[in-house]
Amino acid sequence: MNIPLLDLKAQYQSMRSEILAAIEATCDEQGFILGPRVVALEQAVATYVGSAHAVGVASGSDALLLALMALGVKAGDEVLTVPFTFFATAGAISRLGARPVFIDIRPDNFNMDPSLLERAMTGRTKAIIPVHLFGQCADMDSINEIARRRKVGVIEDACQAIGAERNGRRAGVLGDLACFSFFPSKNLGGFGDAGMVTTNDQALAESIAMLRVHGSRVRYVHEAIGINSRLDALQAAVLLVKLKRLDQWAAGRRRNAARYVQLFAAAKLLDRITLPVLDAHNFHIFNQFTLRVQKRDELRSYLKDNGVGTEVYYPLPLHLQNCYRDLGYVKGTFPQSERAAEEVLSIPIYAELTDEQLQYVVQTIAAFYRKH
Ligand SMILES: *Cc1c(COP(=O)(O)O)cnc(C)c1O
Repeated sequence: MNIPLLDLKAQYQSMRSEILAAIEATCDEQGFILGPRVVALEQAVATYVGSAHAVGVASGSDALLLALMALGVKAGDEVLTVPFTFFATAGAISRLGARPVFIDIRPDNFNMDPSLLERAMTGRTKAIIPVHLFGQCADMDSINEIARRRKVGVIEDACQAIGAERNGRRAGVLGDLACFSFFPSKNLGGFGDAGMVTTNDQALAESIAMLRVHGSRVRYVHEAIGINSRLDALQAAVLLVKLKRLDQWAAGRRRNAARYVQLFAAAKLLDRITLPVLDAHNFHIFNQFTLRVQKRDELRSYLKDNGVGTEVYYPLPLHLQNCYRDLGYVKGTFPQSERAAEEVLSIPIYAELTDEQLQYVVQTIAAFYRKH
């Protein structure tokens, strides 16, 4: 059996004609830069997450960069985030000449450990970027409480978490600004790169909308030095079709996650693997279903040889990346992030998986541990 980590073809087949019609209509209009489709998607995403505003941008990475710019982060400032995330979270900070200051994660849900925040703050701290990793929200209540007291901004990196909830509120309204990615492998993925920033703050929304078009509100009049980062109309057309089905896909992912829990328990594998830990305050949308496993790299190649696609998100924490040597972090500084990087393995979770496929994944893992 062959089970890729993610198979977008089945999803596409289920809505092919609707997507092609939306693309065709956009081509017939010949309006590709901003315009009504982008506005429609912004409104739809704002309604979906429950935010007052949403601004379409070119990628999740740019969403992070623009959110930091809107908060006025500049050279010499410090921004707190986690080292166990996709590079873009920290890269956006560095692009502005600011310094990423890393905070270790909690071992249970892989998200920022708020108990470590306060001691990492200095007079230069401007913002905190918690990441809702794998589709489960960080502990925003604690993070917001500290941020409010210390008067620093909070940017949710919600790139993996559209539709995720904490205490009944969706990612996108849990900080000052939130950043989404529509990279194809996210739960809501376009046919290329795209992103969005949501906020309840009108001034911040206006600032993002200005910064994404080279800092101008009125054409050829530049109030700030922005960038070119627009969500293009073709992506908006595709995403408008897909957004209608997002909850149904999330439900499928959650159903598969629950089934994995049953199957791993029945296979008596819980001494070799650790299942994702669900925080009772959270609604997890399982952009990834990430295990901690023994003999990770051997298991991974065994699964590959037997047709099961997996991925390690993420094998090298950011504080140990070559490009961050000058930050001066050494191995051992963030033990939870370093341990997670050695133990995690994400397995297929997309909604279209059949029960037979889920059983095959678990049986193959069980077969590996019988031999090892
Ligand atoms: C995908 C992702 C990003 C970047 O999004 P792009 O659209 O690929 O630029 C940022 N942060 C996290 C946590 C992500 O998963």
